Amino acid sequence: MGILVARTRQELRAMIGSLKSTLEDAGLRSSVGFVPTMGALHEGHATLIKKSSKENSITVVSVFVNPKQFAAHEDLDKYPRTFDADCELCLKAGAQIVFAPTPEDMYPDDFKTKISVDEMSQVMCGAHRPDHFTGVCTVVLLLLNFVAADRAYFGLKDYQQFAIISRMTQDIVHPTRIIGVTTVREDDGLALSSRNRYMDATARLAAACIPRSLRAAAEVFLSGETNASAVLLAAREVLNSVSGFELQYCELRNAKNLTEVEARITHESVLAVAGFVQNADGVKTRLIDNVILTLDPDRLESLLDFVRLGTAVK
Ligand code: AMP
Repeated sequence: MGILVARTRQELRAMIGSLKSTLEDAGLRSSVGFVPTMGALHEGHATLIKKSSKENSITVVSVFVNPKQFAAHEDLDKYPRTFDADCELCLKAGAQIVFAPTPEDMYPDDFKTKISVDEMSQVMCGAHRPDHFTGVCTVVLLLLNFVAADRAYFGLKDYQQFAIISRMTQDIVHPTRIIGVTTVREDDGLALSSRNRYMDATARLAAACIPRSLRAAAEVFLSGETNASAVLLAAREVLNSVSGFELQYCELRNAKNLTEVEARITHESVLAVAGFVQNADGVKTRLIDNVILTLDPDRLESLLDFVRLGTAVK
């Protein structure tokens, strides 16, 4: 069977309903997994879809470039759109339904509601993109309601988004369980991103300083250092040594509530970096990445994998 494409919320409900009844008629329990995306899909997205299809009998992927999360000067119009290839990737990764609504279907003319999560949305990326997370929360809550999934999968690459969505669903007691998925990276550690295709060779080279900086900080942390300034310094030294990289922020935050870690790292923390690299023609690409600093046995393995990836390319 090819992939099913739903263009409206009604079509989506009908498709999910029909797949569920087919499974239930065959005496099988059905569960729905959901992966929200903005399209231009890559292996990072494929990993989320594969995890969902392993853990659920039905997987829905949404492809929607959400105008509400872009500011006027941002890249909404030039955001890459590769719908046919996206559908192929979804099918190969094990999804059954692609939901690709129009902005009018998501936000009818009389739509007035904004969903926002206090404090956590105003820091880090939120300090530089003021309405971004309100746009994200509004669209994600609508999508979660349309799909009514058992589980929804979010990449830890967009860590602040994952933390905010987790907070939102917990606060409003939303029945969908939010699952974070480890960041998929290139061989030199650069996190895969739909925006990576904006970069030329010069920018791409400079971009590699981001995973290098995170790895330097992770190594300092794993050597037993819990002083926040020392860990941050290790990352900043790398970032400041690369002339083609313009730092926006490099911060250490509590992984749960995103408050700043000012003195010692006592709880699971996230070291997050955002900045710009520039192409020869002057076009800039904004990149974000992070590493979770933890000694929790459940998460330590992925931290060690990240550091080992660095050893392989040294
Ligand atoms: P986007 O299409 O950029 O909105 O991303 C859709 C989902 O894919 C989000 O939950 C992202 O965090 C996740 N994602 C994007 N890049 C990666 C990556 N390199 N590894 C894992 N997940 C990712």
